[in-house]
Amino acid sequence: MRFRKSFKYRLFFSYIAVILISFGLTAFFLDKQLENHSLQGLKSSIVTQARLIESQIPPESLKKENTANLGVLVKNLSLKNKSRITIIDDQGKVLTDSELSPGEVLDIDNHATRPEVRAALKGLTGDSIRYSATLKTDMLYVALPIMGKDGVVGIIRIALPVANVQKIMFAIRKTIILNIFFALGLAFILAYVLMTSISRPLNKIINVSRRFAGGDFSQRIYYDSHDEIGELSSTLNKMAQDIEGKVKEIEIQNQQLKTIFQNMVEGIIVADKSGCIVSVNQAIEGIFNIESRKTKGRPFLEVIRNTDMAEIIRIVLDERKFVSSELSLAYPVQRVFQVNASPVFEKDQISGCLLVIHDVSEIRRLENIRRDFVANVSHELKTPLTSIRGFVETLLGGALDDKENNLNFLKIIQNHAERLDTLVDDLLSLSHLESKEIALALEDFNLHHELDEIISGFRSQLKKKGVTIKNEFPPDISLRADKGRIKQVFTNLIDNAVKFNKEKGLIRIYAQEFNGRIKIIVEDSGSGIPTKDIPRIFERFYRVDKARSRELGGTGLGLSIVKHIVELHAGSVGVESTEGLGSKFFFILPK
Ligand code: ADP
Repeated sequence: MRFRKSFKYRLFFSYIAVILISFGLTAFFLDKQLENHSLQGLKSSIVTQARLIESQIPPESLKKENTANLGVLVKNLSLKNKSRITIIDDQGKVLTDSELSPGEVLDIDNHATRPEVRAALKGLTGDSIRYSATLKTDMLYVALPIMGKDGVVGIIRIALPVANVQKIMFAIRKTIILNIFFALGLAFILAYVLMTSISRPLNKIINVSRRFAGGDFSQRIYYDSHDEIGELSSTLNKMAQDIEGKVKEIEIQNQQLKTIFQNMVEGIIVADKSGCIVSVNQAIEGIFNIESRKTKGRPFLEVIRNTDMAEIIRIVLDERKFVSSELSLAYPVQRVFQVNASPVFEKDQISGCLLVIHDVSEIRRLENIRRDFVANVSHELKTPLTSIRGFVETLLGGALDDKENNLNFLKIIQNHAERLDTLVDDLLSLSHLESKEIALALEDFNLHHELDEIISGFRSQLKKKGVTIKNEFPPDISLRADKGRIKQVFTNLIDNAVKFNKEKGLIRIYAQEFNGRIKIIVEDSGSGIPTKDIPRIFERFYRVDKARSRELGGTGLGLSIVKHIVELHAGSVGVESTEGLGSKFFFILPK
């Protein structure tokens, strides 16, 4: 608003000022010129009159004795010329005056000091304008010398009131002032028209520019003219269009970056140079169980109570270097993180720190599993191999001739060799199942029927232990699965159910259907599994009682193979068990 006022009024007043000054100066000089010109005209007409009068005054009439006649002559001339005539002698003494009686003339003071008289005494034409105390008005006095044989003998002075000139000047001034006012009025109107023709489009531009400043670049200035304002409008429009495009582009990029930032699997924390959080992504919310909107601007430690990470941020900010470190976090959940922290620079100045947090718990867990697995495998292989070596050495050391024991030793060696064979078989099928490239040969088959066949394979084992097995699986249900592998599952489960059963125990195999799924249960009346071991029972090489398992010819891989096969069928496995009473191993398959 201030700009508009000042600009409008400045232009307006300068317009008026220019008119006032130019008219004023013109009027002033014109006035002076005219005044001079009029006075000059008046003066020259008086001089002409004076010369005419002079020609009518003979020099001898100036003599004292003739002053009475001179008085009459002067009075007559004065009446004709309508001017005051004074005759002065060469000493400056007034001899006669048309406006004064002879008596008054005697009282009048010497005129030699009057400027016009002084000039005339020198033989020149003198003039002067001054106030006449006698006539009480401004008078123009012109004095001419009356020349005799020996120079100036007297002076004729004619005086006229300048009121005439002033009257004319007043009329002229009035006209000039009227003209000035007229011009001013015209200037006002013109200035107003000009002002509105400039300020209206300018106001439009200002209003639209305000919107630009507020970030709304959709507006355009409509001003269709080829003048400077038109050019300014189209430049502003072009600028707005460009900015609008750029802003849109930036917005899209921003959105893309935001989406990437939010959806990155890695947790990201941006901190400022004082170590306060600027932003965190969704992954961080999940890891540390925090809400990102409550983290902004708060010190790192206040939000995430992890001194190791705070220390990393401190090092990055202080030493301006990249830091990479592995940290384990106990809370909220046990996890291992790879933290990569780098400084963020802004014009060579450090402005903050960027932390990328990668959850490597799964990698570390798998590494541990692999390490354990290798250790376990080596151990499992080592035991039978050590035995075999021992017995071979014993035999070679002379026991071969020990007729009583040598066959025994060989049987033990055979047992261990068989164990190794089973172990390697199990390991091979496990690694095959884990390879993920495995293709299931799905087919429809009657499980009840297949179970009968599997059970018959355990006949001698069952007989030996007096265990009874009941196939209660519904005979009318057919299953779509990889028959060979499902048979392997049952073989392993029944093998365990027999091995860990009590003498004359019972095994039941039955099924339950629900929600399009089928749950198959192998229930035994054996030793059961302690509750603490249940969660780990399906792990490779996990055994409740290692020695017993080995003694029974187990490898500790049976359940692990079961789990793998069932999961390949998109199913799940589980166990319910009460120590000393028996176990219920089950697996659920989609029908
Ligand atoms: P193993 O070759 O030792 O049988 P598994 O993986 O088949 O290996 O079984 C792992 C362990 O689970 C066994 O050593 C045993 O301790 C326990 N287990 C498996 N099945 C049963 C069961 N039916 N009753 C009691 N314990 C069992």
